[in-house]
Amino acid sequence: MKRGKTFIVSGPSGVGKSTVLNALLERRSNVYFSVSATTRDPRPGEEDGVHYHFLDVDTFRSWIVNDEFLEYAEYVGNFYGTPKKYVDAAMNGGKDVILDIEVQGAIQVTSKRPDTVRIFIAPPSWAELERRLTERGTDSQEKIQKRLLRAKVEFQTAHTYDYFVINDTVENAVRELDAIMTAEHCKPRERMEIISGR
Ligand code: ADP
Ligand code: 5GP
Repeated sequence: MKRGKTFIVSGPSGVGKSTVLNALLERRSNVYFSVSATTRDPRPGEEDGVHYHFLDVDTFRSWIVNDEFLEYAEYVGNFYGTPKKYVDAAMNGGKDVILDIEVQGAIQVTSKRPDTVRIFIAPPSWAELERRLTERGTDSQEKIQKRLLRAKVEFQTAHTYDYFVINDTVENAVRELDAIMTAEHCKPRERMEIISGR
């Protein structure tokens, strides 16, 4: 069976990654969305094992020691990491994998797996990003300011990504992500392997 591809989606907190990816998952089949582990507290409505694996710091450290992460990073005072085994199982089962991870994690994954496709999602403006973060109502003003500061630093790395999507409307962003994933499956090497295997 043909192995799936890995797609990294990075972008500022509050830009709409979860919103857009949830809509994308409804449109595209054969995709596994990687559930990360984190030491941050769950937001209202977030479920353990669905949105994140919520771990205490000691457990997170034991996962690091046991080499359970494909990558991990610190982000605004908490740890976040991608559990390796589910990603590998999905890819081996022929599914594409989407990782919603920040830029340090993206660098780690790409250095281990250079065939990973990296997509940066940006807001239409900084004012709109601040509005979305405030409107979401899940973070204190202090946390929002920290996330905005981090967003501006992350934005400086956006040119190193393979694709740049602006989330002006959810519909536009989903359409572009869907198109990118389809295009990545039209690369000659993958297509030619299919034919030569017949
Ligand atoms: P992220 O996962 O990037 O942190 P979320 O998906 O939680 O961001 O979205 C942050 C807020 O912005 C949410 O309240 C969401 O409903 C809203 N949002 C997402 N995409 C759009 C959009 N295209 N236009 C307006 N609001 C949006
Ligand atoms: P949030 O707290 O808003 O859910 O996520 C904060 C940031 O952590 C976002 O930029 C998100 O992409 C990133 N993130 C989520 N999971 C992971 C992960 O497993 N690894 C890394 N490196 N970043 C992650």
